[in-house]
Amino acid sequence: MTAPTPATPRTAPPIPFFPPDLFEADREALLDTVHAVGTGAAQKFILGGHTAGFEQALRESLGAAEVVACSSGTSALTLVLAAMGVEPGDEVVVPAFGCAPLAATVANLGARPVFADIDPVSLTIDPDAAERLITPRTAALMPAHLFSVMADMPRFRELADRYGLRLVEDSAVAQGGVLRGRPAGRWGDAGVFSFVQVKTFGMPGEGGAVVTDDPALAGRVRMLRNHGQDGARRFVHHVVGHNSRFDELQAAFQLHRLPGLPERLARRAEIARRYSARFAPLAGAGITAPQAGGDGRCHYVYTVLAERRDALRAHLAAKGVDTHVYYPRTLPAQPAFAHFAPPGARWPNAESAAARNLSLPLYPHLTDEQVEHIADTVCAFADRTGEVR
Ligand SMILES: *Cc1c(COP(=O)(O)O)cnc(C)c1O
Repeated sequence: MTAPTPATPRTAPPIPFFPPDLFEADREALLDTVHAVGTGAAQKFILGGHTAGFEQALRESLGAAEVVACSSGTSALTLVLAAMGVEPGDEVVVPAFGCAPLAATVANLGARPVFADIDPVSLTIDPDAAERLITPRTAALMPAHLFSVMADMPRFRELADRYGLRLVEDSAVAQGGVLRGRPAGRWGDAGVFSFVQVKTFGMPGEGGAVVTDDPALAGRVRMLRNHGQDGARRFVHHVVGHNSRFDELQAAFQLHRLPGLPERLARRAEIARRYSARFAPLAGAGITAPQAGGDGRCHYVYTVLAERRDALRAHLAAKGVDTHVYYPRTLPAQPAFAHFAPPGARWPNAESAAARNLSLPLYPHLTDEQVEHIADTVCAFADRTGEVR
């Protein structure tokens, strides 16, 4: 008989923000895909049958006339803007808070990103602020969905129509979101997706897609994606293009993963709802949860605004919960883009979001226990402030 061992407190393993096992459940399929594509007689590694099949599957799931798969979300934005003829002298209105490609893709075409402040609640670009920045040089509006909330696309659609502007919808994070019955990516003249691993339909590598109902625009994007060739005739270059081709291996793997996407999205939404229910009482304690509800929500990351963001972050870290600060500065405060900002201009809502945003883990294979632990830890921090009873 062995003596009973005294109970030792079990410490749960830390919860990473970026999970190391995103594709673990698909390991066999991934290896089979590598083998099949790698040893296939066709030796076709880019823009082959898998890519065509992937584009078709996305067209069907989105009800879109055209999908063009390309090498990244950033590249998708570049190809769309270039296909729309955005060039030096043009202006494109973009959010002041968001990721670098929103400004960089415009700047790399020689055009000027014009930064509009964001809505303080949705954190997406404020349509009124955007409207005030429209000038005769404005070529396009480029709203972006952010974190878990879609931009106010009905207003942007109306603005673009009223001013005769192109509308580029950066839906890189929002695949699976639906607003008023219309999927993310389907509100703009063109929408873009990113398949980089962390996105809602992420994959183990780089990739993106352009979605549009405009066949002429899609044709130009297709040409620009492969060195300005028209697909039918190689080595005839009609325009100065890019190399933004899609990988066959990734296309085959994404086709394998597509049927499971609705279930993974539903699990993300479920976790977000649980966080929102737990965090609803915390607003008085300086922790504001994102807008809850289903319409116009996309569950990419779950981002709270915390008055004492860095202290909350440290508290979570001490309890084994890894977090992420997405954009610690506004785009016009970035050294790369500051010269596009009018001297003295301010973006108060964007600046406030940059100072307060904190993203919590949100991925489908988080367990209920992990979700409760994360929520408990956030609530315990709020309790400590003494403002929440
Ligand atoms: C991720 C992202 C992109 C860029 O996508 P990549 O595939 O990483 O190039 C563009 N816009 C937004 C809003 C994003 O979140």
